Order: sequence, then C-alpha cells, then structure tokens
Amino acid sequence: MIINGIWHSRPVTISVKPNCLTISLDGPAEATVFSYDYAGRLWTAYLDGVAYRRGLDGRMIAKWRLSGSERCRRWLSREEAAAIEDRCRQQTLALYQALTGDQIRLTASLPPQGHTGFQRAIAFDRQRSEADAERYDQIYKPIGILPPDQYMAVVLQITEGCSFNTCTFCSFYKDRPFRIKTPEQLRDHAQAVRDFLGDGLSLRRTIFLGDANALVVPMAQLLPLLDVVHEVFDVTALGGLYAFLDGFSGERKTEADYRLLAEYGLTRVYIGLESGHLPLLQFMRKPGAPQDAVQAVRAMKAGGVAVGIIILIGAGGQQYADAHVRDSIATLNAMALDERDILYFSELIVDDDLPYARDAAQAGLTPLTPAQRAQQAEQIEAGLRFSPTGGRPPISRYDIREFIY
Ligand code: SF4
Repeated sequence: MIINGIWHSRPVTISVKPNCLTISLDGPAEATVFSYDYAGRLWTAYLDGVAYRRGLDGRMIAKWRLSGSERCRRWLSREEAAAIEDRCRQQTLALYQALTGDQIRLTASLPPQGHTGFQRAIAFDRQRSEADAERYDQIYKPIGILPPDQYMAVVLQITEGCSFNTCTFCSFYKDRPFRIKTPEQLRDHAQAVRDFLGDGLSLRRTIFLGDANALVVPMAQLLPLLDVVHEVFDVTALGGLYAFLDGFSGERKTEADYRLLAEYGLTRVYIGLESGHLPLLQFMRKPGAPQDAVQAVRAMKAGGVAVGIIILIGAGGQQYADAHVRDSIATLNAMALDERDILYFSELIVDDDLPYARDAAQAGLTPLTPAQRAQQAEQIEAGLRFSPTGGRPPISRYDIREFIY
C-alpha cells in the first residue's frame, strides 16, 4: 500500500509492503529514503546522495557514485553506523508524531501494519541495535560470503567452514575447522535464527545452507539435517534451499540424489569453478578438476536443480590469461547452462596477506589491469554458446567486497 502526503512542505511517500516499511521524503532528485524490516531493523537508507545498507551483524556499508560513473564504497565504523541509524530513527519518529498528531494530510490512513512498522523502527534504538548485533554474533560464525542473489536469504549454517580450506586466494574460513552439525545442534541454531529474525523474516527470500560446502555432507547425514530445516522453516514459502558446493571429493552425488534433494526444496547450487584451466586451479590450490565440475553440474541439472557458476576474473594474471579464457569457455559450454542458471564473474581480490600474493610474486605473475579484467570477462562471455531452447543464463558481476548479510 502506498500513501502520499506533504510534511513541512516536503512530499512524503509511505510504502507499507508485506515485507518492509519504506519512507521516502522529498522528490527523486534529492530523496531521503529509509527502509525497515518488521522487527524494526534499519535495512537500507539513502541520505545526501549516499546509499547505506545495514547487515544483520550491525555493520553498515555506504555506496555512492562520483561524477561520471565511478562507484565508491566504504564500510562504516560502529560509531558512524550508529549515527546513521540514529538519524534515520529520529526522522522516522518525527514523521510518526506528525502522522499520529494529524499534522499531515495523507491520501489514505496508515494501516495497522504501517503503525507496527513505525513503532518498531522507533523502538529499535542504539541500545537495541547493539544488543541485536551481539545476539547475531552468538548465533552465527562469521558468514564469509554469499552469492549476490542470496544476500537476502536466511542463512543456516548446517556445516561450518570449508572441507578443503586450501585455496590460496580465499581467506573466508581460515578461522574455523570444517564440521557438520548434528540434527540437534542444527535445530538449536535454526530456532535461534528464526527467533532472532522475528518479524524481520518477512524480508528474507530464500534459505541458504552454509558455510562453504554444505552439500559435501553425505546424503545419509544431509537428509536428517534438511528434515530439521523443514521442521523450523516453511521452505516452500521462503523460496527454496540454496547452497555452495566447492571442490569435489568424497561421496559424489548422483542425478537421483539431486532429484531427491530437489524434492526437499534444493533449488540452486553455486559452484566456485574459478577457471576451466586445470593448471591454474592447481596453481591456486583449488581442489578438483573442471571436468569434475562439469559432471556435477550435469547431475544437478538432470536432477532438476539449477546452478550458479562463479569464474574468477584476473586469476593467474597475464601469464595464465589466454588459457584461462579458452578453457573457461570450453568448460562453461560443456555445462549446457540455461535460463534457470546464473553465471557470475568475480574479480580476484588479492590482499597482501593471502598466500596467492606470495605465490604470484614468486611465479613472477603480472596482474591484469582493471581494463584487462573487464576485457577478460567480455572475452569469456563472447565465447559462450547456449542452446536456443534452454535460453541464456543471466550473467552478472560479483564483487566480494560488497558482501553483506
Ligand atoms: S573450496 Fe571454496 S571456500 Fe574452500 S578454500 Fe577454496 S574457495 Fe575458499
């Protein structure tokens, strides 16, 4: 429901959606916008030309564009994030006081859900926000990464860590050993997640099974865990189950396994292929071979599960560039991706403390320039062929520096 009004000569739009409350002040050119989930958490804000997004862990990222189209981002300090939340809450409070004091003429009266949304947003003060972030830290091990289309998922850590943890370019799970939760541990975790999200669950769109490698769990152990997920959440209403499968070892799942997992709601599996060039994968100590990924994708798709494939742009620098492009095209084309799938190009981000940085220096690799990286993604894309009947998968950029849950 959209309600319009004027407040202190400023146009106001209040959008009471089933999943969130959004308040917009002023016209599009100089808009101020706040969105809240129905637990009262600030979700997104747009102030003075800067877009803010608050994660469930209380962290906040600011994004803006410089003149031209250069995109900028910065993670705010806790104090800066709290100041943005305060500013949004104060304006929301002032608007609600004006609304309930009949100082604004609206095109329709605010429905009960709108009142609830305002009241919860106002009650979500600094103390509440800090307590919420602390509770988050008790429930979750840090969530390393999600695919960009899963940032609004409910994450359930049915496993923790990565069963490989060898890749030289990845530091997401170095802080924890791999472990598979028992059904009892998962039940406690899932119930805690559900209670933590509260009415904010309405903003969540899917269920993502974390961490890096949830689907390496053998079927005999995995199915009881999925039963627990179904016990605690309405998987169908939330849009199905999603997960990473990274590297390939241990029990390999068959088409029949994936068909059964699809019945449990498994909808898409994300595979960090990184490259179709085996020597490059070996250089980066990424387990498995491109052919293993092709076989896994075929089994998934035959079983009715879609895939998301991630290619690492810039991997191996100039020395590996031609082979990386050539073999990635061949591997992707062998996967017969279609419109249900997704293909991501993720830029290699090399922090100095990553083993990749050391290995690349020792091997004398020359990194690609930003223009060469863009060109590498274009070259791979240009070589892809899709079946006319299956359609073309969406192809997107994936910037791991912008990940927020
Ligand atoms: S398999 Fe995936 S999660 Fe594990 S270390 Fe490699 S890139 Fe990271």
